[in-house]
Amino acid sequence: MVQQDDTDARPVPLPPMMALMTALLWLRRDLRLHDLPALLAAHEAGGDVLPVFVADPVLLASAGAVRRAHLAAALEELDAAYDGAVVVRVGRPEEEIPRLVGEVGAGSVHVSRESTPYGRRRDARVERALGDVPLVATGTPYAVGPGLVRKADGEPFRVFTPFSRAWREHGWPRPAPVPAGLTWQRGVESSPLPWADESPLPAVSCGEATALARWEEFLAGGLADYNRDRDRPDLDATSQMSVHLKYGTIHPRTMLADIAAHPAGRSEGAQRFVTELCWREFYADVLWHRPESAWSDLREELRGMEYADPEGDAADRVRAWQEGRTGFPFVDAGMRQLLTEGWMHNRVRMVVASFLVKDLHVWWGHGARYFLAHLRDGDVASNNHGWQWVAGTGTDPAPYFRVFNPVAQGERFDPDGEYVRRYVPELAHVPGGAVHQPWRVPDGLAHGYPERIVDHAEERAEALRRYEAARRRS
Ligand code: FAD
Repeated sequence: MVQQDDTDARPVPLPPMMALMTALLWLRRDLRLHDLPALLAAHEAGGDVLPVFVADPVLLASAGAVRRAHLAAALEELDAAYDGAVVVRVGRPEEEIPRLVGEVGAGSVHVSRESTPYGRRRDARVERALGDVPLVATGTPYAVGPGLVRKADGEPFRVFTPFSRAWREHGWPRPAPVPAGLTWQRGVESSPLPWADESPLPAVSCGEATALARWEEFLAGGLADYNRDRDRPDLDATSQMSVHLKYGTIHPRTMLADIAAHPAGRSEGAQRFVTELCWREFYADVLWHRPESAWSDLREELRGMEYADPEGDAADRVRAWQEGRTGFPFVDAGMRQLLTEGWMHNRVRMVVASFLVKDLHVWWGHGARYFLAHLRDGDVASNNHGWQWVAGTGTDPAPYFRVFNPVAQGERFDPDGEYVRRYVPELAHVPGGAVHQPWRVPDGLAHGYPERIVDHAEERAEALRRYEAARRRS
């Protein structure tokens, strides 16, 4: 693959023979017009640009209906922004991309470099299938391309804090401009998306214009106080930009440049927000160096842990967790938010993940798969490493013995119970913070809210017993 330097993200001139031929811009998770170095590179190849999205059945099967619907809506908005020029093809990229290259006589194919295990294998297959036509990677979905931040001895970082320091010192390029004088290749046949109408959730506007508007809103109203309220799911105190970062309807470089230019850019709130963006970059970097970490425990000594079977002995409990019927209001509110909105607040993600792993003793991978099927922002690096963090098997693991108490977490981070009542109507009659322990309130369980499916203190002790046993065995 022709690789551009991510710290610069300036297109490399292509050999003269290829100049003036159509350049394919193969879009994947970069569904925007602004700050897209691969678009700049395609334009600078000299001829028309043909933007294309390939609906890959392999990837879409694992995406789940929520993400497929979101993607379809984002593509529709992208097509409008690209003046109707986006071509969609359905099939395996290693067949569809060379076919399109042949149809229009393209001289080069431009992409943002991919860092997921599947994406890397797929791109290698496409490159082989393209033969002499270069697959040119310019930029990535990250401010600093995965793999570029390293220790002085060239080794990758394994824990977050030194990575984040080096990441900030490394710096990132300025946002790329929209190319002037861009011309689109027209007249190429496009296929309808096979799943466009299947959304299980209400449609939301989700293209680049929405991303930029939400970002402006957060910059104006949320950034400065972000560190104060970011753990409160009852407040609208986080950016909700994860879904836009997932599909690349905004690039983190744009966000970092806006923060640097913002009057509150040096505030604690802003700096904390930059740290959160850095977690996303760190997890992508870990996945780049250790692709197997997507689906196996990073900490080897915990690989022998004894788990419950989510399709056997734990099936009923796991179903109760999935459907938000565990009898623990904070957990149930989170799982119902996931099912109704395709998003969940970070604090609650941690608590529900801990509940599955440490109260129900189910391996984190099952929870990660369920999240990926239901989250609009479902992203293998952030999701699976977030799960590993909670499970204690990952990088910077929360110590295994840190078991989130679902009642105490609710009382602390949803003190008036507003968040729970928003998602759990059977508890609407329970006032204030008492909603976190409805079994203590007269008539608290009178409107159909279930009894607790486990005794948290007992399961916590059981989780610790299993942990110690795994450590002794390793
Ligand atoms: P904000 O608080 O506004 O943060 C700004 C941005 O920083 C986010 O949009 C996100 O890109 C990044 N960020 C924040 N926290 C984290 C984090 N812990 N790890 C990585 N990046 C972070 N995030 C996803 O984008 N996709 C996922 O599939 C995903 N699954 C998760 C699963 C679990 C079990 C846990 C504990 C966390 C998961 N996260 C995931 C991280 C985090 O919960 C979400 O990024 C965040 O809740 C999104 O809301 P926001 O945009 O309002 O975040």
